Amino acid sequence: MVVHYRTQGFILKQDNLKEADQLFTIYTKDFGKLKILGRAIRKIKAKLRGNTQLFSFLELEFIQGKSYKTLTDAIVIDKFSEIHKDLEKLKTIYQIADLLDGLIKGEEADEKIWKLLSETFEKLNDLPFIIYHLPLIYYYFFWNFVSVLGYHPQVDNCALCGKKLKPQNLSFIPEQGGIICSNCLKDKKETLDISPETIKVLRLILNKDWLIIRKLKKINESNLNNLENISDNFLNFILSQIN
Ligand SMILES: [Zn+2]
Repeated sequence: MVVHYRTQGFILKQDNLKEADQLFTIYTKDFGKLKILGRAIRKIKAKLRGNTQLFSFLELEFIQGKSYKTLTDAIVIDKFSEIHKDLEKLKTIYQIADLLDGLIKGEEADEKIWKLLSETFEKLNDLPFIIYHLPLIYYYFFWNFVSVLGYHPQVDNCALCGKKLKPQNLSFIPEQGGIICSNCLKDKKETLDISPETIKVLRLILNKDWLIIRKLKKINESNLNNLENISDNFLNFILSQIN
């Protein structure tokens, strides 16, 4: 007997294979990240074609074949049409999908990641078109996601001596897992500068104070660049640890 598995999931990637087949990367509620084959799904008459748009939220059913899991049913719960209407929002969700796909290797359900991904899709879909919020959505996902994966950064106390950090220009060291105080900085060579404003935004993100983040006035270019630099370096460090 063939077992049909049912779950919910977000389509994060679509890769075209031979003969109108398509391989979906879907983050599911009950099984974590899965690769699921859509057999002949690119044919005009394919039953499931209209229900498997990239970045849709689905109720889906699949079976475990010899080499692939195969999609047998899909019902759209949400298409997130506001995301699809907006190129910048689309770019942001591509970035989030890439990040998730790059950092998650196995098939394992994770309630925290599921919740974070669900709320990120909803926030992005609901967000009015204000360009400076969009990078913050990515960083909101990024920092909370890596925290769930075991890389929660130290942003309140020095990552080395544990003393409470003062509101001033400080340094972030990916290898040490966070910000260090000016005392501990003395014998360190490779560090990244982090501004008090960036530290503030990082704390809001990690506390998931979305209502406050949403109300933030435009964070200025240099702080946004600072946040980008810290995030990219931390991501590279994490990638070097897991690959
Ligand atoms: Zn210290």
